[in-house]
Amino acid sequence: MSDKLSLFHRTLNQWYRAHGRQHLPWRNTNDPYAIYLSEVMLQQTQVKTVLERFYFPFLERFPTLQSLAKATQDEVLQMWQGLGYYSRAINLHQTAKLCPNGLPDSVDALVALPGIGRNTAHAVAAFAFKQPVAVMEANVKRVCARIFSMEHPKEPELWQRAGELLDARHPFDYNQAMMDIGSMVCLKRAPLCHQCPAQSICTGQFSPEKYPAAKASKEVKVRKKRIVVLVNDREEYYATARSSRFLHGLYHFIEMEEHANAAPLEKNIYLIEQNDFIGAIRQQYSHFTLEADIYRVLAGKKRGIHWHTARLLTTLPMSMAEQKILSLLEISPKIAATS
Ligand code: SF4
Repeated sequence: MSDKLSLFHRTLNQWYRAHGRQHLPWRNTNDPYAIYLSEVMLQQTQVKTVLERFYFPFLERFPTLQSLAKATQDEVLQMWQGLGYYSRAINLHQTAKLCPNGLPDSVDALVALPGIGRNTAHAVAAFAFKQPVAVMEANVKRVCARIFSMEHPKEPELWQRAGELLDARHPFDYNQAMMDIGSMVCLKRAPLCHQCPAQSICTGQFSPEKYPAAKASKEVKVRKKRIVVLVNDREEYYATARSSRFLHGLYHFIEMEEHANAAPLEKNIYLIEQNDFIGAIRQQYSHFTLEADIYRVLAGKKRGIHWHTARLLTTLPMSMAEQKILSLLEISPKIAATS
């Protein structure tokens, strides 16, 4: 190993001891399941949100991989409610079912499990099993791109560079420190190079904003819909679990195109009247924004397995959009409909 690299490892280690987020609960456990859970939750969600609202309640409800495997999909999705990207929860549940004896410790076996990509496999291998592999989530990608002055880095090149930088003797601390530099020092805008332990090896520090080059921002599409909440004469509501890939397994009301004026259900047609309108919601997703007018339509004596009392509705897994609708119906805690 070059002197420069070993100096970087030493400096990084000292910095981590002094400034790293060593208190994070998933950094203070040897339980591979708890570490894996944190990695999955953190894939598209900020540390603060995961820490304050989701990590502990989920672990309390499903304390082991085995207890997660025994749960129903509805139970798992309900605990995931509000975190978004629900395919993460479904894959987590599938993985639990596939691993009755616990998670495997090799990257190859981990990456073969549902929803575990290369970065998550490396993170579980490095943090739970102390394997000498580099972690490369979004922040670490930026740090690597800057250290090596890569304007348009390609994934294979980034992985190779991340592997070259790795402190193979201390994969846990090294990877945690790199993630912390990415989120606390090597900021997207105005990185704090004068505080950075990678200064001695960073070739991009004199014009860091150039690396990596900013991608053109995509225009976010707006989808306008009508959503119909059918309610029968027993005050039961019609809701079914989605079978689509998007929001799979989450319960929803009837969704229609913006100008449609009827809600078909089995053989009946329910006309929407002006006074059925109860409000509007707005919900941001990663690839589009949903804007929907919500209607509450009376459905007479309709019965069946898809009809739920208000109390039961609140126990079903639902996306944020449906929760906003529940709030408009005044059968759940108030959530701002357009937040
Ligand atoms: S020296 Fe600056 S640009 Fe280089 S890794 Fe550190 S914060 Fe990022």
